Amino acid sequence: MTNSKQAKVCVVGSCSMDLVVTSSRRPGAGETVMGESFKTVPGGKGANQAVAAARLGAEVIMIGRVGDDHLGETILNNFKENHVSVEYVKPVTDMESGTAHITLAEGDNSIIVVPAANNEVTPDYVQQAAEAIRSSDIVLIQQEIPAETVAVVSQICVDANVPLLLNPAPARAIDADVLKHAAYITPNEHEASVIFEDMSLQEALRHYPNRLLVTEGSNGVRYYNGEEEAVVPTFKVEAVDTTGAGDTFNAALAVALAEGQSLADSIRFANRAASLSVTKFGAQGGMPTRAEVEAALS
Ligand code: ATP
Repeated sequence: MTNSKQAKVCVVGSCSMDLVVTSSRRPGAGETVMGESFKTVPGGKGANQAVAAARLGAEVIMIGRVGDDHLGETILNNFKENHVSVEYVKPVTDMESGTAHITLAEGDNSIIVVPAANNEVTPDYVQQAAEAIRSSDIVLIQQEIPAETVAVVSQICVDANVPLLLNPAPARAIDADVLKHAAYITPNEHEASVIFEDMSLQEALRHYPNRLLVTEGSNGVRYYNGEEEAVVPTFKVEAVDTTGAGDTFNAALAVALAEGQSLADSIRFANRAASLSVTKFGAQGGMPTRAEVEAALS
């Protein structure tokens, strides 16, 4: 696969810091337990997808918000280290950055997400960044920001004839106009069942031929190609940590589509990138470079 044209990808979404504690057990109400380790890791679906797209060789502009706290500075530095443009990631005054409080205990995780500054990615805010959206080859958006903002971005994209890739995660109901405006919609199986609750998956796939791509983990991706329902298998790997597989998949799909690859080739490229990401620990930690994906594909 050749990287003939550098893709210009605009990501509109969340930026957060994951605060991860490991403990032999989780505390009950009113109880204190001594933990084993603590680490902070940059995350948020928007930020993850922006970093993944940049590693895959795209020119990436992030539209999002951080707080005016030290976590916000760390998030911005992480973008810069990964060559993501932060011109449109403005700190919100007197507000905390978004955080995910993750406890790893007893072989499972429990998570509390505090959106904080991510709630300030408002329709007004994205209107101020509309030029960045209009001048991109593709726009990538998720659902960790307000639904009204997703709707406004979808309208800007339609008006400017810029394809919108909607990764509808986490699951929530979606406005019919947004579904109409999105060039591609990429739920996992659970998200698809929430969005299309009044129809079967088969009906939904036929309703959005070559547009609705349902990711099925180690199975790959299911879509309707206009003639039949097709499953594009992913690559067999030794999975170590699947966190961020979906983010890598969406970023890689956006990059390949923006470079002008066919849909089938773009899905294959995205499956390859996402399957590599699950062979390493961490969301951003596992995201492959362009060279790694191309070596694996050749
Ligand atoms: P997550 O929330 O864990 O980031 P997701 O639920 O959004 O992921 P999945 O459908 O689990 O999305 O995975 C997205 C893509 O990642 C799959 O379509 C596939 O390409 C790749 N993938 C995920 N798990 C595996 C695996 N075990 N082996 C190979 N590829 C995988």
